[in-house]
Amino acid sequence: MKDDNFLKENNARHLWHPMGHPGAAQAEGPRIVRSAEGVRITDIDGHSAVDAVGGLWCVNLGYSNDRVKEAIARQLSELPYYSAFAGTSNPAAIEASWAVREFFAADGMARVFFTSGGSDSVDTCLRLARQYHKLRGEPGRIKFLSLKKGYHGTHWGGASVNGNARFRTAYEPMLPGCFHLPSPYTYRNPFDETDPDRLAERIAAMAEDEIAFQDPSTIAAFIMEPIQGAGGVIVPPARFMGLMREICDRHGILMISDEVITGFGRTGDWSGARHWGVQPDMMSTAKGITSGYFPVGAALVNEKVAEVFETAEAAGAIYHGYTYSAHPVGAAAVIACLEETRRLDTKANAAARGAQLFEGARRLAETHDIVGNVRGGHGLMTGVEIVSDRAAKTPMDAATMQRIHQATYEAGAMVRLGGHNILMSPPLTITEGEVDTILAALDAGLSAA
Ligand code: PMP
Repeated sequence: MKDDNFLKENNARHLWHPMGHPGAAQAEGPRIVRSAEGVRITDIDGHSAVDAVGGLWCVNLGYSNDRVKEAIARQLSELPYYSAFAGTSNPAAIEASWAVREFFAADGMARVFFTSGGSDSVDTCLRLARQYHKLRGEPGRIKFLSLKKGYHGTHWGGASVNGNARFRTAYEPMLPGCFHLPSPYTYRNPFDETDPDRLAERIAAMAEDEIAFQDPSTIAAFIMEPIQGAGGVIVPPARFMGLMREICDRHGILMISDEVITGFGRTGDWSGARHWGVQPDMMSTAKGITSGYFPVGAALVNEKVAEVFETAEAAGAIYHGYTYSAHPVGAAAVIACLEETRRLDTKANAAARGAQLFEGARRLAETHDIVGNVRGGHGLMTGVEIVSDRAAKTPMDAATMQRIHQATYEAGAMVRLGGHNILMSPPLTITEGEVDTILAALDAGLSAA
C-alpha cells in the first residue's frame, strides 16, 4: 500500500469520480475515507465523523457487522465465483433468493432476479415489463411513465425514466417513449398546491390525461420510488401511490416500485410501498440487500408476471442477465445481511431514530431561516431544503451549500448534498446519541452558511 503522501498527491489524478467534475476533483482533492467502525468513518487525516449518509443510503447495518464479513470470507474460500446463467446455480444463490423473497412476500413478490446493483435492477424491471407484454400478445406496449425528480440509476433505461435534467442532458437522446409526470412534491409543484390530497388528485388526473394522449395500449409500465430519495427525500401524499395503482390497473400498465433505497427497512418497514398500502407488480432493490458490503441488487416480480413468463413457450426465455447475477459471494452477503437485518429488527430502530432525526431537523428550522422545508417522517430518510429567501423559496447557491457541508463535517457528521438539499440516511443501527451528534453538527453547519 502506498503512503499517505502518494495518496494525497495522486488523489483524483487518475481516478474519475462518479457524479463529479474530473477537473474540480483534481483541484479540490476528495476526502479520502480510510476506515470505518460502527456508524463512524475516519478520513486519512484522522478526522472522524458520524456517517449520516450511510455510505450512499446503503450501509444499513453500519460498518462493523462481523457476521456479514465472516459469511463473505467463508464463501470466498468455498466458491469465489460461478455463473448462474441457464444450466448452473449455486447453493448461496438459491438460499439468497428465498431470503429476499421472504422480505417482500407481503408485497406480493414471487420471484427474484439477481443483479449487480440498483441501476441493473431498474433496467431489469423495464426490460422484463416489455417482454411481459410481448408474451401476452401486446407487443405495442413499449413506453414508460415516471415522475419528475425521480432517480432510477444511470443505465439507459433508468436514466430515461429519471426525472432530473442533471442526469440526462449530457447523455441525450434518451430511450424514446418515456414520459414524466410532476413530482408529488407539496413544497414546490406546478400548481402551487400545498394540500397533499388535492396534489395527489391533480397529478393522478394528469396521469389519466397523459395515458389517454399516449394511448394506453402503448404503455408498458409506470415506475416510481415510494419516497423519492436522491430527488430530495420527497414523501408523496399518502393517497398518491394508491391512486397510481388504480390507474395502472385500469389501463393494463405494470407498476414498478423502485425500492433501491426504501427496501429492507430504511423507511421503518421492509418496503416503501407498504406504507401506502400498495402492492406493485415489480420491485427493483439493491443497497440494503447487502448493506453495501458487496455489490448486489435484485429485481422482483409478482405471481401475475411470473406466470406469464413461466407458462410461455420459448419466448419466455429471459435473454438478459449479468456475469455477476447470483454471484455466490454476493449471495452469501445477502443471506447474512438479511439475517442480521431481521435479528436486529432494523426497521423498528429506523422508525424510532428516524422520528428523532426528523423532529430534530424540524427544530433546526426554528432557529435557521435558511431552512425552507424539512421532509421525512418515514424512517431514516430526511431531507432539509436550504433557501436564501424563505418567502420566495429561492434555492441556496452551490458555494453556500459547500460551506454548510464542510462545516457540518468538521463538526462531526458527513451529510450528502443533492443540489440545495441536505440528504440524510444514516445506518439503521444508529443510536439516539449518534443522531444527536448529527443534529448538533448540522446546527453548526447551518450556522456557517
Ligand atoms: N434507484 C434508486 C431509487 C436509487 O436511489 C439508486 C441509487 N441511489 C438507483 C436506482 C441506482 O442504483 P445504483 O447506484 O446501485 O446503480
